[in-house]
Amino acid sequence: MRFERLKLLAGTLRFRMMLWTTLIVAFMVISTIVIVREVVRRTLFYEFDNVLVADLREIGQILQKKWPAERMVRELEDYAARTHVYSGWFLQIFNSEGRILWESDEVPFPTKSITPDSGTIKIAEQGNFRSITALVHERGGPNAWYVQVGCSIRSVKDDVHLLDRIMLLAGLLMLFLAPLGAYAQASRATMPLTRIIGTAARLQPSKLDERLPVRGANDELDQLSVTINGMLDRIASYLARNRDFIANAAHELRSPLTAIRSSVEVTLNRDRTSEEYQHILGDVMEECTRLSTLVNRLLLLAEGDAGRLRLTEQQVRFDKVLLESIDMFQVVAEAKEVELHVGQLDAPLVPGDEIHLRQVVRNLIDNAIKFTPANGRVELDLHVDGDGRWAELRVKDSGIGIRAEDLPRIFERFYQVDKSRQRDQGPMGYGLGLSICQTIVQNLGGEILVQSKPGQGSIFRLRLPVVQLSVAVAG
Ligand code: ADP
Repeated sequence: MRFERLKLLAGTLRFRMMLWTTLIVAFMVISTIVIVREVVRRTLFYEFDNVLVADLREIGQILQKKWPAERMVRELEDYAARTHVYSGWFLQIFNSEGRILWESDEVPFPTKSITPDSGTIKIAEQGNFRSITALVHERGGPNAWYVQVGCSIRSVKDDVHLLDRIMLLAGLLMLFLAPLGAYAQASRATMPLTRIIGTAARLQPSKLDERLPVRGANDELDQLSVTINGMLDRIASYLARNRDFIANAAHELRSPLTAIRSSVEVTLNRDRTSEEYQHILGDVMEECTRLSTLVNRLLLLAEGDAGRLRLTEQQVRFDKVLLESIDMFQVVAEAKEVELHVGQLDAPLVPGDEIHLRQVVRNLIDNAIKFTPANGRVELDLHVDGDGRWAELRVKDSGIGIRAEDLPRIFERFYQVDKSRQRDQGPMGYGLGLSICQTIVQNLGGEILVQSKPGQGSIFRLRLPVVQLSVAVAG
């Protein structure tokens, strides 16, 4: 159990951050300690050797004096007595063959001879004593002496040991504190992440109202929260749209179903004449047509959403589809006393199949006539852009128009500006027409643009890319 928890902890980002910080701090502390200790040790020995070299120089001066032997010995003894105050100071003088000529009292390791060495200065260390030997030449004479000056080095070594102990203590303290500090720092750094994880774990598709905390530090974690919050907003609005869509679809499906059911129920109440049966079955048939139209439209939207509408593989003559539709609506327009006027008619080839393009064109013309009162006018023209890349169908009506606040919503599914009024305009209005048009047109690589003024009329512009035919030129 405890082992499992340890294993879990070892896998956390916090633990790994702590481990790395500790390793880096430990490496830096140890290397700093080693470097500082070595620099201080070398400085101490360098200073110590400098003192001995200064003594050597003084002794050299005395030896240059060419005093008689007794005076020379006296002077050297005087010097030794003065200098011996510095713990364990000693002096030995050898001739040029390395045999001892004179030495001070209390030489820690007395030697009667040394091996002559051509090197000018030689440093030696024995036990707690350190000495320097140098060859001193008689100025203007043939004589030469090896002079060895030494002194106890204990105080320097004690200083170095003390330094070692202080450094070791400081190092251990740092090594003990580093993981604690690193762990605290890692916990602080990962705290927002823990909060993000907690909030994310609480989110459910049915409850997407919570958002990740943004601390205002504008660091990577804040950016992560902002990005995830943006994504959640998009998912929430997508789900809300989907919910509305399903609710609206269910609602619209229920009406014809209820109508069919009550017709059948009422019919079955008692015996009917064959005319009555025919009449009722006619009503049922009408509702079934309504149902299948609605189901077909919903299927088309669902296929568009799933990216399964592949319409661009075929090509169609835009003017042909338009002319067929005009023929069909001529009667409707006349019945409504709306003038249907056809202007310019180019003949572009556009992507798509006849069925889907017809659906779009008819929807636009149908709406234009539907929302234009008697004595109004609907104008249609189809032209190709100056550079021949876009075909545009303009459907202009002098109808009721659309308010500015409704304009962005008319392409939403099931949106109708005035539902009650529209039911009177005809049986097939579900508020799905324009959203279907948009799905189809977007799949064809085109767009629908609208301009409208309430009371003055609307202009719908359907733009589709023109299919460029490659022409083979015979040579
Ligand atoms: P429906 O399928 O019910 O006709 P649409 O999706 O085609 O719905 O249209 C959506 C809404 O846009 C309609 O409710 C209507 O109010 C408005 N609309 C569409 N075309 C026109 C137009 N030419 N003039 C005025 N309003 C229009």
